[in-house]
Amino acid sequence: MHKIAVLPGDGIGKEIVPVAVEVIKAIAKKYSHEFEFKEALIGGAAYDETGHPLPDETLELCKDSDAVLLGAVGGEKWDSLPVHLRPEVGALLPLRKELGLYANLRPVRVFPVLADASTLKPEVVADLDMLVVRELTGGLYFGEKKKEEIESGYRVIDTLVYTTQEIDRVIRLAFELAKNRKKKLTSVDKANVLETSRHWRERATALADEYPEVELNHMYVDNCAMQFVRWPKQFDVVVTENMFGDILTDLAAQLTGSIGMLPSASIGGKVILYEPIHGSAPDIAGKDIANPLATVLSAALMLRVSFNMGEEAQVIESAVTEVLNEGYRTADIMQDGMKQVGTKEMGELVLKKIL
Ligand code: NAD
Repeated sequence: MHKIAVLPGDGIGKEIVPVAVEVIKAIAKKYSHEFEFKEALIGGAAYDETGHPLPDETLELCKDSDAVLLGAVGGEKWDSLPVHLRPEVGALLPLRKELGLYANLRPVRVFPVLADASTLKPEVVADLDMLVVRELTGGLYFGEKKKEEIESGYRVIDTLVYTTQEIDRVIRLAFELAKNRKKKLTSVDKANVLETSRHWRERATALADEYPEVELNHMYVDNCAMQFVRWPKQFDVVVTENMFGDILTDLAAQLTGSIGMLPSASIGGKVILYEPIHGSAPDIAGKDIANPLATVLSAALMLRVSFNMGEEAQVIESAVTEVLNEGYRTADIMQDGMKQVGTKEMGELVLKKIL
């Protein structure tokens, strides 16, 4: 029995996560696997119900599961709460920390039929297949924060902190992943300005000695942002610190046509967390128009990585490809001549291909 904690969260999380759960159930039926799904509150929904965005029961459930499927958290309603109670800071960050999830893996693949759904020229993105590894539990998002009143207003401080150990473990992981791909690793930093980046670069260079088969290059983050849109196919595995990774992966998402297509896995501890890379999209929540495919592909990633079910994962990915090949699109990837469907219908189309 594989135990999956299901955390829909807020906004479109409540619409897309059930689609992915149905997909896993269909796989269970087809292959006679047993999964146990236990749902819990997180984010604004949890705050409204319990007064905290990450209730103890939710954390315990996650720790006691084999894998976690998360939708997204956040929304305007909770933006004015004290910072430690806001869904992103009060739920996501401690959840990652508590589960020891120090690396977020974001495969960026362009489905051939979606090459011209990107805002970039099809030849720039067609067949793109890269992997961004983002450090997840250190850096600016976790450093000490301060807001002091001064005569002219406020003095506000965020602190960017990394230890050698935090840097080494994520860079090592990226080298390992690169070893099993095209053996090319780009380490992204801002070593011309930041002390943390200078150490990051030193460590990447030092660790490269342990991986002679992998070609390492360094790139400044500003140049990397430009290279992502100029010629993304020059990259295979990219590793970077938390905030740079946050920004670069949204940029990378757009290469694929829509943020609604990108899955992710956060790893480092016993339990791996899977989630689409997008947020709760309050602007489209409750309208049955969100693209559920990033979450469905996150479920495929879960089967492959957490449960060693490569064939089953492939069945889901092929089902998604077939549905797209037949011309079905959610609004975010809609193109002329295609058939627009909503969240639920997209889910049903994928299910039909699986069963
Ligand atoms: P967002 O990713 O929610 O939305 C950005 C844009 O992409 C919006 O126009 C949205 O409609 C669109 N979009 C996102 N997912 C989509 C999907 N599946 N299908 C179709 N379109 C989709 O980012 P945002 O607007 O910056 O943030 C909204 C809220 O989500 C905020 O509260 C933010 O803090 C939170 N957030 C949460 C997470 C998370 O839970 N991991 C990540 C990012 C943002």
